[in-house]
Amino acid sequence: MGDIIHLLPDNIANQIAAGEVIQRPASAVKELLENAVDAGATQIKLLVSDAGKALVQVIDNGKGMSAADAKMAFERHATSKIQNIDDLFRIKTMGFRGEALASIAAVAQVELKTKRAEDELASFVEIENSRVVKQESCSFQTGTSISMKNLFFNVPARRNFLKSNAAEMRHIMDEFIRVAMAFPDIFFSLTSNGQEVFHLEAGSLKQRIVQILGSSYNAKLVSVNEETDYMNIYGFVGKPDTARKTRGDQYFFVNNRFIKSAYLNHAVNTAFDGMIAKDSFPSYVLYIDLDPSQVDINVHPTKQEIKFEDEKIIYAFVQAAVKHALAQFSIAPSLDFTLNADIQNLDAVSKPFTTDKKDAVAGSNLFKSFSQKNQAHFIESSHQAGTELKHWKSFYSAGDDQTKPSDGNTQDPVQQLLHTPKTRSIEVIPDSVLLQLHNTYIIASTNSGFMLVHQQLAHERVLYERYSLAAHGQKMATQQSLFPIALELAPADAALLQDLMPDLLAIGYQLEKTDDNQIVIQGIPADILPGNEKNAIELLIEQFKHFSAEVKFSKREKLVRCMSRQQAIKAGQALTQKEMMVLIEDLFGCSSPNITPTGSPTYLEFKEDYLDRMFGR
Ligand code: ADP
Ligand code: MG
Repeated sequence: MGDIIHLLPDNIANQIAAGEVIQRPASAVKELLENAVDAGATQIKLLVSDAGKALVQVIDNGKGMSAADAKMAFERHATSKIQNIDDLFRIKTMGFRGEALASIAAVAQVELKTKRAEDELASFVEIENSRVVKQESCSFQTGTSISMKNLFFNVPARRNFLKSNAAEMRHIMDEFIRVAMAFPDIFFSLTSNGQEVFHLEAGSLKQRIVQILGSSYNAKLVSVNEETDYMNIYGFVGKPDTARKTRGDQYFFVNNRFIKSAYLNHAVNTAFDGMIAKDSFPSYVLYIDLDPSQVDINVHPTKQEIKFEDEKIIYAFVQAAVKHALAQFSIAPSLDFTLNADIQNLDAVSKPFTTDKKDAVAGSNLFKSFSQKNQAHFIESSHQAGTELKHWKSFYSAGDDQTKPSDGNTQDPVQQLLHTPKTRSIEVIPDSVLLQLHNTYIIASTNSGFMLVHQQLAHERVLYERYSLAAHGQKMATQQSLFPIALELAPADAALLQDLMPDLLAIGYQLEKTDDNQIVIQGIPADILPGNEKNAIELLIEQFKHFSAEVKFSKREKLVRCMSRQQAIKAGQALTQKEMMVLIEDLFGCSSPNITPTGSPTYLEFKEDYLDRMFGR
């Protein structure tokens, strides 16, 4: 018998190793954006098509590469960022492992164009399966453009693991946002299938955060800013009334690197104790800066988890800093908790903020340990929140309403319905003719251009808000069925349905259990045509069971989501002028007309100035 161990060819070894770094288009987005940041770019553009499955391209105006480096960059362990292991603890760059480009080149088709300021000509390199297939000179501005095409074209099994375009796009936006939030003085844009989704001018940190989270946050942020010899923390936490029932806008950055840390998250949550309902999550964007020797960023291939030299100090510091910020905010007169009963009933809110309470906050041991003079971790005593800002020049004032197109998932429905101000910057021109395309899209003239409404997604939003209101009190009318319909259900399904009966009744479905344990439909919502109610209920059970287990929505919320998806008019259905008009009116009567509950856009807006630009006018 011969020996059986052999070395893997490079390209296969690279493909395997790539699995750690590049799992999906969004991983490449992260790596390429970070490389552009490391290259000192002040402008970084990200272009994707087909949710990054067909193309991820990053164009930067950074320092570029020499012709030799342009090829070398794709070798495994090729990096310009560290020389030896000690450098790991002095890291100031985002990258250092020298793996990203090699990984990308192993699992996609890559084209690189790059030029340094001192060079006349740019280099063009084309790579496939880890092999250079073309290298030549070309002309290009100073900076770098890297295109990654057809991710996993040579690893079909992994390509099959990619999720729907909506899901992959969500991941891409997450990564984009994380980098963009860490570097507010760099211009970033994200263009998806030719449509610009984000356009983030360089500016202050607060401007950047508001650009990304939406201008409704403008007046809802409390600034956090503490400095010590050991570490600094700055950024913002949302006022208590921005807390949500689902984990939403929570961001931690350590030395400008986005990290996930359940531990630090806990520190922030406890700082909010008593100010927000138990089952809700505060929003925050917090930046911790400390000596790189105090953190090990090399514990995870994508560097999203890190290890602190002294975790306890960081925990206590974060908690104290947030408490301090909240305490200052609470004495400020602008206290404004509107509408949310949960919150209004909390002592911290309903009773005036007494000096006692202030002392209680300030008297806590942790707070003391950070706020007393002579301590290493001294926190400067009270200054009016928001007046002394070191890290941002100006407060963001009115701006365009850049609602993140997909934060639907992260919002509590009641909050959304009750709190979100109706921003209606677009007006559909009344009585104008509406045009239906492919029985799916509706084109409507607006005061500033036109918009393209997706009928199914738009209707889903309309129904979602209608059912949400119904489920939270405004019960919907029921029409009694002339002939009650018996459902034939498996025992488990019957049990599930019985559980849902009260909630179903709120949205207009009247079900009853008969003596012989059958469930019978007695009535259906008044605005639904009778005929397929049986089908609708069965479909509901099916959808309800398969509702993604990871999402912790309440039963009602799931029901409302299932029902609105199910009952929405479908793409492919012809609509009359009247129906289209009603749909659009209903849509813009919604509190969040622009997205579906799951975060897809319901319409695209084409403004005149954009059209003019496209036509070169
Ligand atoms: P790392 O970032 O860990 O060093 P990468 O594989 O991401 O490894 O990149 C390898 C090298 O290629 C980098 O160290 C850098 O020198 C060079 N490089 C990559 N992207 C760019 C870019 N956009 N501009 C200039 N140089 C780049
Ligand atoms: Mg890198």
